[in-house]
Amino acid sequence: MKKPLDFGSTVNHEDEIHEACGVFGISNMDDFDTAQITYFGLYALQHRGQESCGIAISKNGEITGHKGIGLVPEVFSEKILDRLEGNVAIGHTRYSTTGGSSVENCQPLIFTYKGGKMALAHNGNLINASKIRYELEDKGAIFQTSTDSEVIANLISRNGLKCSDLVEVLTKTMEVIEGAYALVILAKNTLVGIRDPWGMRPLCLGKIGNSYVLASENCAFDVIGAEFIRDIDPGEIVLIEGGSITSIKSKFNKPHRFCIFEHIYFARPDSSIDGASIYRSRLEAGKLLAIESPVEADMVVGVPDSGITAAIGYSRQSGIPYGEALIKNRYVGRTFIQPTQQLRERSVGIKLNALREEIEGKRIIIIDDSIVRGTTSYKIIQMLKNAGAKEVHMRISSPPVLNPCYFGIDISSKEHLIAANYSIEEIRKSINADTLAFLSVESLLKTPIGAPVNCFCTGCFTGEYPMKVPMHLGKDILEKNC
Ligand code: SF4
Repeated sequence: MKKPLDFGSTVNHEDEIHEACGVFGISNMDDFDTAQITYFGLYALQHRGQESCGIAISKNGEITGHKGIGLVPEVFSEKILDRLEGNVAIGHTRYSTTGGSSVENCQPLIFTYKGGKMALAHNGNLINASKIRYELEDKGAIFQTSTDSEVIANLISRNGLKCSDLVEVLTKTMEVIEGAYALVILAKNTLVGIRDPWGMRPLCLGKIGNSYVLASENCAFDVIGAEFIRDIDPGEIVLIEGGSITSIKSKFNKPHRFCIFEHIYFARPDSSIDGASIYRSRLEAGKLLAIESPVEADMVVGVPDSGITAAIGYSRQSGIPYGEALIKNRYVGRTFIQPTQQLRERSVGIKLNALREEIEGKRIIIIDDSIVRGTTSYKIIQMLKNAGAKEVHMRISSPPVLNPCYFGIDISSKEHLIAANYSIEEIRKSINADTLAFLSVESLLKTPIGAPVNCFCTGCFTGEYPMKVPMHLGKDILEKNC
């Protein structure tokens, strides 16, 4: 029997899908302050992970670093940045899922292997990390963190015993690991960027002066004044040293399967990935949603911030005016004090508040990027109705989320996914919307304008993952890294 829906006992942010991680790297050939550029690169990637962050830096091949729990400006002071000297650096912003808020799990990981010290920062999730870890532990390996990134570090370290060439070490490591990964690695004075063979997570290359930079998203390049050069190809390894780049197109070519949720939610709208603007994708999703699921109304409203661009697209297509009806408190972080039970019922109001003047007596179309558990949708609709909305029609700019993600995005097990357990009509009733509609998978795949055709993972919507997911996953998977 299906469990009843419970909307009263969770704080508002529990319904959100949380971010992936952000990675950044620079090989500084100019007189920039390497640590400061990395800091600002990470600042631009803060949306990809707010739990912890870190920088590792190499001075004449000697690697040091600093990392900690908190946002980029909380972890790094000017004094700390001044201490981080060198000309090659990598950085990381992290989001983890379960109980991973320990300093040991913060990245970049700095480790020693036969070739010297190395630092590694990882965005994504390996699907065979547990298996590799058990095998390595059987051979005597000791792990200090619960992340799958340390499995990669351990493999690099072991492969370094057998091969002297860095590319061979990395290639041998890629032969073993399976899943999603965008890696930036610091090996003495070399900056390395690697994207997994499916290209599931983003990584791009930019240039500022004579210096090359790598980042999860090119919005980080704009912040530091770098120009975007290109995306790293799926399965590609780039080695950057002394102002020159070597690209190794690995033999692990797979069909490109970029995570479409980056377009729906994770990536910043001012980024472009694999040739497609995130902003335009969201606008297009709104337009297609208006074509697929029209409804008569007086105003289109976006749930701040993730639903706003799609709401503008819906408004443009439908001709129904776009309006602001929900105001977001921009100063609410991820770690505000948990409210008491009494306050918890009103907890959505901590983040959002309704503009009664705009709402009263109107038929509202409210657009959000996705529904995961349904808790936030219910509270937002209640808020609009309490503020006098005559009707509230909910439109979602992605299809129903029916399956978990195993590739680094915090979409939990099926039992927590409302659409995996209830029909659309049941969800509509539960969230108290007058009507409810989702974007179809067919339309979603048309939204990343400019991206190669058929190059997306849609696993959480369709159950069709790019690679076979081991049966045990979700039970004894290592803690998701990011
Ligand atoms: S399953 Fe969904 S969230 Fe995970 S990589 Fe695929 S599209 Fe992205």
